[in-house]
Amino acid sequence: MKYKSTRGQVSGLSFKDAVLMGLATDGGLLLPESIPHLNRGEIEALTKLAYPELAFQIISRFVDDIPSADLKTLIERSYATFTHDEITPVVHEDGIFVLELFHGPTLAFKDVALQLLGNLFQYLLKESGQKMNIIGATSGDTGSAAIYGVRGKENINIFILHPEGKVSPIQELQMTTVTEDNVFNLAIDGTFDDGQRIVKEIFGDLEFKSKYALGAVNSINWARVMAQVVYYFYAYGQVRKKTGADSVYFSVPTGNFGDIFAGYIAKRMGLPIKELILATNQNDILTRFVQTGTYSIGKVSPSISPSMDIQIASNFERYLYYLLGENPERVQQAMDEFSQDGSISVSEQELKRVQQEFTACTVSEAQTLETITDFYRLTSYVLDPHTAVGVHAGKTLCKGDAPLICLSTAHPSKFEAPVQSACGIIPRQPESLVGIESRPKRCEKIAASTELIKKFISERALS
Ligand SMILES: *Cc1c(COP(=O)(O)O)cnc(C)c1O
Repeated sequence: MKYKSTRGQVSGLSFKDAVLMGLATDGGLLLPESIPHLNRGEIEALTKLAYPELAFQIISRFVDDIPSADLKTLIERSYATFTHDEITPVVHEDGIFVLELFHGPTLAFKDVALQLLGNLFQYLLKESGQKMNIIGATSGDTGSAAIYGVRGKENINIFILHPEGKVSPIQELQMTTVTEDNVFNLAIDGTFDDGQRIVKEIFGDLEFKSKYALGAVNSINWARVMAQVVYYFYAYGQVRKKTGADSVYFSVPTGNFGDIFAGYIAKRMGLPIKELILATNQNDILTRFVQTGTYSIGKVSPSISPSMDIQIASNFERYLYYLLGENPERVQQAMDEFSQDGSISVSEQELKRVQQEFTACTVSEAQTLETITDFYRLTSYVLDPHTAVGVHAGKTLCKGDAPLICLSTAHPSKFEAPVQSACGIIPRQPESLVGIESRPKRCEKIAASTELIKKFISERALS
């Protein structure tokens, strides 16, 4: 399988090159040159596999330049860190199926992709004799999942900036209690936006970027999308086994369009998905797009589902590529328009197609809390606020003619305060959080200054 950019200036890349490139050098996002298609018989056979074997079957259709035995080992190692035998189990509560994606080391779905990405990076760097210094800014989940993805790995250092005192206490502890030598937590005296701006400025210094072989782990890496395709197949198989249904709804709480885009790829691969339900919180750029055909930037307003508080969905360009007839010139034009005007509109015919591919729903803060409360009263099952956004949207939009699978993207312990206010209990902490407050910590406080942070990195970067 070869990879190409949505903007047309990069093509013919191997999978390995695509993983190491991350963002395409023409500013676009990388996609496989074609999407493999599976027939019903092949899909039926996949439903019988355990998660790691299923992951190997799906992933190997996108990867032809890593020997099978090595790829198998990488996949097995990545999911051995999960605390549930099934990796991503499906539970049945109140008439819906909840796909639990939070059994990885940081208790959020990002582990599914970042555990694999960390192992892939280590494998590829060892092979090529290169080193990499990963830099990122986080408001919570991505930073901790990235740190857990590469902690202790050879030839990789990671520098993660977080706004001091502005991430949840648990998210902060998850990051700062990782004390491996290759992990650098930087608590900046500023906001998340400052962190993002600093990282952007550092990547913008091309000389610095190439001198220190800077890498990124944000949601634009193709390998992350690919790893997430797997659990759509897995969940379908589990629900098919339990109900005999041959088609399902998926409801996906969405921020950067990464998770739901993986569902879109699964559908294009032939997985019988009746509808993909896109669920947003009050930061609703994507719902507005599905409803009106206009993708226009708004102001971020902080919510109780903070991992979906985004203005620009970084994976949206991948979908746009397919929507605009796989025409890179049109994608380039649309993205230019977006950076000038903060808005893109698609044609009526294209909007029709969008609405055939997705339904969408915005869920308010009050509805989110109410969903957590009601679900708990009815079932004793505690939803985290992100998952609750998806459950509310799913219940609103599922027509009842096929089972509904709601993706659960985080463990409720990660977002304890809203959960406690909605159901009056503190969710039971998973093993990995017990005693976390008293573990040794490693974190540097630093001013929100690009120059100071570059100096910090240059003194500690691998080269
Ligand atoms: C990142 C995240 C999301 C949003 O995922 P996208 O791929 O950005 O759409 C939802 N829930 C949680 C808990 C997350 O960490």
